[in-house]
Amino acid sequence: MQDMKSVEIAIIGGGAAGMFAAAVAADRKLGALLIERKARLGSKVLMTANGRCNFTKDIAPDRFLADLGYGQDAFLAQAIRECPPRQIIKGFQSLNMPVRRMADGRMFPADGKAATVVHAFGDLLRDSEVPILTNCAVRAIRKNKGEDDFTISTPHFDLKARNVLIATGGVSYPKTGSVGDGQRFAAELGHRLVPYRPGLIGLETADPKVTRLAGRRFEDDGRAMVKDASGRMLFDYKGEVDCERFGLSGAAIYNAERFLEHLRREGKSTRELSLEVWFGHNRVVYRADDLRPRPLKESIVTIGGVDLSEINPATMESRLVKGLYFAGEVMDIDGPTGGYNLTLAFATARKAVVSVAASRARR
Ligand SMILES: Cc1cc2nc3c(=O)[nH]c(=O)nc-3n(C[C@H](O)[C@H](O)[C@H](O)COP(=O)(O)OP(=O)(O)OC[C@H]3O[C@@H](n4cnc5c(N)ncnc54)[C@H](O)[C@@H]3O)c2cc1C
Repeated sequence: MQDMKSVEIAIIGGGAAGMFAAAVAADRKLGALLIERKARLGSKVLMTANGRCNFTKDIAPDRFLADLGYGQDAFLAQAIRECPPRQIIKGFQSLNMPVRRMADGRMFPADGKAATVVHAFGDLLRDSEVPILTNCAVRAIRKNKGEDDFTISTPHFDLKARNVLIATGGVSYPKTGSVGDGQRFAAELGHRLVPYRPGLIGLETADPKVTRLAGRRFEDDGRAMVKDASGRMLFDYKGEVDCERFGLSGAAIYNAERFLEHLRREGKSTRELSLEVWFGHNRVVYRADDLRPRPLKESIVTIGGVDLSEINPATMESRLVKGLYFAGEVMDIDGPTGGYNLTLAFATARKAVVSVAASRARR
């Protein structure tokens, strides 16, 4: 196609990572095009924290990285140190978005509305005239043979881009548009995928001690602990526990389940472990493996995705395909609940775009 349009960077996916990436690209005067399959940007961001959007956690980068654990801290250290929570907070404040800090450092827009976060991005991208294609699901990404660019196929037309940033998210809540396309594109370009697991998810139990309280939230007096067969504490988190018709959910349950899931991923047995949960004056103890996680599609975050060993942490660029970058949940990264996952999306997006800007400057 002779008159095919070409951009410096095509950002695939207008979620948390894609919107942030487009904002950084505008700041760096990098010709970017943002492509989103849904009619509007940020569908999943609108759902975050029950529509309130816990957009980061106001803690030092070292502590943030330590909380991630499971070897991800090494991969994410540069991205987080260069875009720490403080910088994200200041960034939103500079967009005239008042913020609210909770005692534990969790940050929200002051009006408690996730829509305010999405609008802040929308206004910034409008003012900086970043072109956005909505209602447009990318079908395929091809590296052009013998050329320094990519062809991006949409249902309507093809586009050329010198660099591509895949920011298409994980695979939970597929109605928000995150259906695993980016992982498929990565695999088609030669990348290995780590199998999916639910990251932060509720646990099923028919225990009447829990189900009789269905609908009750224990925001300030919840706790979840994981102990080994000798009663040694392996994990302890004080935070919200919610009783549901299906069983248990809330921050403490999600983080305990994330701990168990990562043990399983490391090939460690969780058969002998117990999960002890407090909600108000109630205490329940289960064998960790007796509680079934809810389905992956209900998970807050997806464990698994594009294998980190094939991505350069200093640039977020593929080690296999020059000019191909990744940001956010499409990669095999996942944080605890509490603002970590949006922070990861923002920080990796920034890292990728800054790297593209640096590579352009070298040309
Ligand atoms: C219920 C819920 C509550 C949460 N609460 C919080 C919270 O309070 N704090 C926090 O830090 N994290 C929270 N998270 C996690 C957080 O929302 C995600 O980790 C984050 O949105 C990931 O950002 P992302 O940009 O990688 O993916 P997403 O935000 O999912 O964005 C991906 C985008 O790519 C688009 N896309 C996909 N395929 C294509 C394609 N082929 N072509 C074009 N576009 C495509 C999708 O439509 C989507 O808009 C929550 C998640 C859920 C589900």
